[in-house]
Amino acid sequence: MKKITGSMYAPSYTNIKTGECIAQYVGQTRQESIATCEGCELLGTVEEKGPCYSQWGTVAWSHSSMIRSHSQGRNDYSFEGAIQRDKKSKAQFIRLGAIGDPSATSKKEIAKIRKYGLPVIGYTHFWEGRGSHLRDICLASCGSVEEADLAVAKGWRATIIVPKDYDTPVSFSPKNNRIVLCVNAQNKKFKCADCLLCVAGDRYMASAPIIALQEL
Ligand code: SF4
Repeated sequence: MKKITGSMYAPSYTNIKTGECIAQYVGQTRQESIATCEGCELLGTVEEKGPCYSQWGTVAWSHSSMIRSHSQGRNDYSFEGAIQRDKKSKAQFIRLGAIGDPSATSKKEIAKIRKYGLPVIGYTHFWEGRGSHLRDICLASCGSVEEADLAVAKGWRATIIVPKDYDTPVSFSPKNNRIVLCVNAQNKKFKCADCLLCVAGDRYMASAPIIALQEL
């Protein structure tokens, strides 16, 4: 079994929002994963948990069970192992940071993921700091529309979180950047695997520099 370096990967086919993908779980232990999110206002602490649905919810349970399974030698959670387990090539994209912040992913690992050739979707809270190497592969996850405008001015595409009942398909930021509501929020028929609007890069920079993601 290949040694896992930094992250665990597994095919994910049943998530009702994302659809079929290879998901990256950042960190080989729960502590490592939580540490990659330190500094994010949604995290809180182990004692006083914040509203992060990932580190304190069902994705964390899946991560724990993967860690257990790996320690018992039952599954290969390396990137290569996940690709092998995606036997029928169902995965339509690679989801960075299903849990944990992808800023902890090394440039070498990013290069390997990119080389595989599937589209990549990921969001980093630390776009200005430890995630700055991810500008052309992740979107900047922003705490306000002003922060999103700043990220766009620095060449990032960005996301903001909007309330569950927010339903405006297109709006504009204070700096006149177009804000597009997540396609899945507009029509549940479309999953990330069909949509791919959040794939970073220039292709959608003019039409969708900012994506509004609804709170879970
Ligand atoms: S805009 Fe598309 S790719 Fe982005 S989160 Fe929504 S469904 Fe997924």
